[in-house]
Amino acid sequence: MIDLRSHLSGKWVRGAGAGTTLVNPATEEPLASATTEGLDLGAAMRFARDVGGASLRAMTFRQRGAVLREMSKAIHARRDALIDVAIQNGGNTRSDAKFDIDGAWGTLAAYADLSAELPDGKVLPDGDGVQLGRSPRLFGQHVRVPRHGVAVHVNAFNFPAWGLAEKAACALLAGMPVVSKPGTSTALLAYRIMELLVDAAVLPEGALSFVCGGAGDLLDHVGGQDVLAFTGGSSTGRSLRGGKAVLAHSVRVNVEADSLNAAVLGPDVEAGSDLLGLFVGDVARDMQQKTGQKCTAIRRVYVPKDRLAEVIELLVERLAAIRMGDPAREEVNMGPVATSAQRRDVLAGIAMLEQVARVVHRGPAETAHHAAGKGYFVPATLLLSESPSGDDAVHTHEVFGPVATLVPYDGTGEAAARLVSWGGGGLVTSVYSDDRPFLSAAVLGLAPFHGRVTIGSSKIAQQALPPGMVLPQLIHGGPGRAGSGEELGGRRGLDFYTQRVALQGDRAILEVLSGARAG
Ligand code: NAP
Repeated sequence: MIDLRSHLSGKWVRGAGAGTTLVNPATEEPLASATTEGLDLGAAMRFARDVGGASLRAMTFRQRGAVLREMSKAIHARRDALIDVAIQNGGNTRSDAKFDIDGAWGTLAAYADLSAELPDGKVLPDGDGVQLGRSPRLFGQHVRVPRHGVAVHVNAFNFPAWGLAEKAACALLAGMPVVSKPGTSTALLAYRIMELLVDAAVLPEGALSFVCGGAGDLLDHVGGQDVLAFTGGSSTGRSLRGGKAVLAHSVRVNVEADSLNAAVLGPDVEAGSDLLGLFVGDVARDMQQKTGQKCTAIRRVYVPKDRLAEVIELLVERLAAIRMGDPAREEVNMGPVATSAQRRDVLAGIAMLEQVARVVHRGPAETAHHAAGKGYFVPATLLLSESPSGDDAVHTHEVFGPVATLVPYDGTGEAAARLVSWGGGGLVTSVYSDDRPFLSAAVLGLAPFHGRVTIGSSKIAQQALPPGMVLPQLIHGGPGRAGSGEELGGRRGLDFYTQRVALQGDRAILEVLSGARAG
């Protein structure tokens, strides 16, 4: 058993008591324990603000970009060892682990690259300046500057590596120090990453702190210059958003929560086409990859009524190839869910779906690929809801596991958009069609309810990226149920961590202050 520590106020510290036990979800073997009991999280926040914040603000965007580059390299250099940790503590297959870890160093590298496109200074101009009076001398210019607080990052259990890195990349480049807290049950991977970053000494002191274990009173110490970025379940998001100190100081909060992501098959997609292959491949991958524990995974699958039988046959064929088991075994291509509580919730969620939908495929509950009676396994389950309604579980309840539900529709873009919107706001929906009027009705109808819509069409079917892959260049987030948050999106990812301020006065002075003209 490894005693996990937090890295606070520039040093490794361990809380009191036994703490939470982290296990291997395939074998239930205890791996580590984490506790934050008794740690002075208020002092850690002050240290991050005073020491880390001052160092980062003294650096230019390019210098901060160089830090991100070194972080990315340090993670990449230990990629194989980190993959083993994700297999052990996350129940990840090798491929799942790469998705998380490569996403981590890749996003840091992408933001390091972005720093070269930013001004070679410390202030970000925001749009063009405007003349305010009769004389061109009286001028207004919006600029963005780093907030003088801490970026508190509370992450979900499902992406311990990427979650830490994608949030940190934006905050650090913007010039804000980070206090990062991973989901405790799978924190071993984030812990190993923090360890290697500390060992590599790539960050200024206080720029990245790490809370390993429960959040304790962390959020009681936030103030008006701090920000809170949360990823996790919507009920936790609601309670954090309503926290006493968060409300008292009007703390800026970003929530990335549940999402009933959808895939929509257009009526024009032909049998045997690459485009149909793309659609089926995306749905099947999202059920299997990370055992369905991706916030962007497709949960609802809308298919024209007359194509249902064909789609079910193709999907069942794909799902039948899943070999669920201990991901440490080479033949396994889907692991367990992360915890016994997740397993309980997923099974309860499937039971809810079964009230309004029937199972068309369920993999075997026990397999020869894991120790009998051990592990938090849930077989891939595909359901069909033939009479959907806006208040049924298919449209109101996220089942965070290898589960999706097929829903027939009449083949019009308008109907597809209306049905998908019943999900109450999501991270991503993918639409597959070459029919321009259909795409126009579906995509523009879906757009207000999503952070991202991906369009699969024949000409890009061979090179399309999976809809569940979050890209640093595009925003990640979504309205309503998804939390109304927004992360990444290239330069947009810095907005949350910077204060936009309107400067008003003599144009010559403003141009020097905003970095447009040398002083
Ligand atoms: P969760 O139970 O809401 O936990 C998320 C994080 O919040 C964990 O770090 C957790 O810490 C922490 N937390 C819980 N209660 C807290 C409190 N009172 N004060 C401060 N922190 C608190 O969610 P999860 O089970 O880890 O993740 C699954 C959910 O996340 C799914 O619903 C999924 O859709 C969502 N998700 C969304 C996205 C997205 O980008 N939109 C991405 C991934 C996951 P402990 O682990 O120590 O309890």
